[in-house]
Amino acid sequence: MQTARCAAHEHTAPRNGCTCGIYAWYDPPARTASAGTAELVAGAVALWGQLELHAHGMRAEHAVLVALALPLSRGAKRTRLVAAAAALGVPAVPARRLVATASAHGEPIARWMRPPDLEPNKRKAPGPPDPARLHMVADGYRR
Ligand SMILES: [Zn+2]
Repeated sequence: MQTARCAAHEHTAPRNGCTCGIYAWYDPPARTASAGTAELVAGAVALWGQLELHAHGMRAEHAVLVALALPLSRGAKRTRLVAAAAALGVPAVPARRLVATASAHGEPIARWMRPPDLEPNKRKAPGPPDPARLHMVADGYRR
């Protein structure tokens, strides 16, 4: 289990307007996303405590890794990932099984709870950053 701590301020992480917290996307990356790198792997986490929801992901106070996704390749990366999963005590599952495996540890954030993406044009020149909007505090990680 990991608990976020703010390195910049004396407050519980995450805090609205700050960047602290444990980051996670709502949806797993494409199965081929890790193919081009030796380091990037996909996994699933259960989050609880204070959460700040954003359009594509969230920041959390507490997290625990619940699964790692096996890479498509059968080389050294897969061997290292299986060893890491065993050392961490989590299953290494095919990417197509990641969501189902994670579902044993809790519910995904419902789509209606996710705030809209107010900046869908990512190629637009960035303006001043808007403070993140606090939408929800959620508790209740189910064992
Ligand atoms: Zn902070």
